[in-house]
Amino acid sequence: MTTRLSVQGITHRYGKKTALNDISFSLQKGTFCALLGPNGAGKSTLFSILTRLFVPDTGEIEVDGHSLSRKPGEALARIGVVFQQPTLDLDLTVVRNLKYFAALHGLAGKEADRRIAASLDRVQMAERAGEKVRALNGGHRRRMEIARALIHGPAVLLLDEPTVGLDAATRRSITDHVHDLANEQDLTVLWATHLVDEVRDNDHLVVLHRGEICAEGSAAGIAGQSSLHESFLELTGGSQ
Ligand code: ADP
Repeated sequence: MTTRLSVQGITHRYGKKTALNDISFSLQKGTFCALLGPNGAGKSTLFSILTRLFVPDTGEIEVDGHSLSRKPGEALARIGVVFQQPTLDLDLTVVRNLKYFAALHGLAGKEADRRIAASLDRVQMAERAGEKVRALNGGHRRRMEIARALIHGPAVLLLDEPTVGLDAATRRSITDHVHDLANEQDLTVLWATHLVDEVRDNDHLVVLHRGEICAEGSAAGIAGQSSLHESFLELTGGSQ
């Protein structure tokens, strides 16, 4: 098995507040992992650490075998990120936005064009390439951000509550789509959410509560005899 993301002993404090307390888990190639936790669980803090916005007080992260603290350039190059807040230029076309991002990764010319076309294809957005982002609905903008996060061929895709603000049907279609990416493209996905209905039975599930992992394993196993919704409420004291 190939470990794509290794998170070991991560602790992070904001002053006296411990936001993450000794968090450890590992994800293999092609795994879809739902990081499920109520508001305040520490999901965004973990994402900030994974993207090196914050350096944790203790612990070690490796992406595709590269240490985030010792080889940040190599480790970050293997990550694609979709942030909670959209970060697209609304007045540029889809393809211009993607070219700009490709250039940040040192990709230009035919190679950039090829990768942009492939990643738009992957999210079924090829026909929208020439449109201004402002003309796209929320679901298509999110798809485009996923396409952007895939251009440089990352091993790990991080998505921080990517369905916030989307209607139910769009939420479902984006959630299904990213599950397909993990299954079909051998991508390792870490999907942060507080919404139980975004988790599928076969997903690897990490339940985060008050900065600690309170359950980890297959979603079906954690749900057990009851529904995942009930198990989650039980694990987190009904604080969703
Ligand atoms: P989530 O993304 O799961 O909602 P966060 O990572 O945002 O959780 O927050 C985890 C905990 O850390 C919460 O108790 C939150 O209030 C606290 N926290 C987050 N950011 C800060 C900050 N900049 N300063 C102090 N406390 C913070």
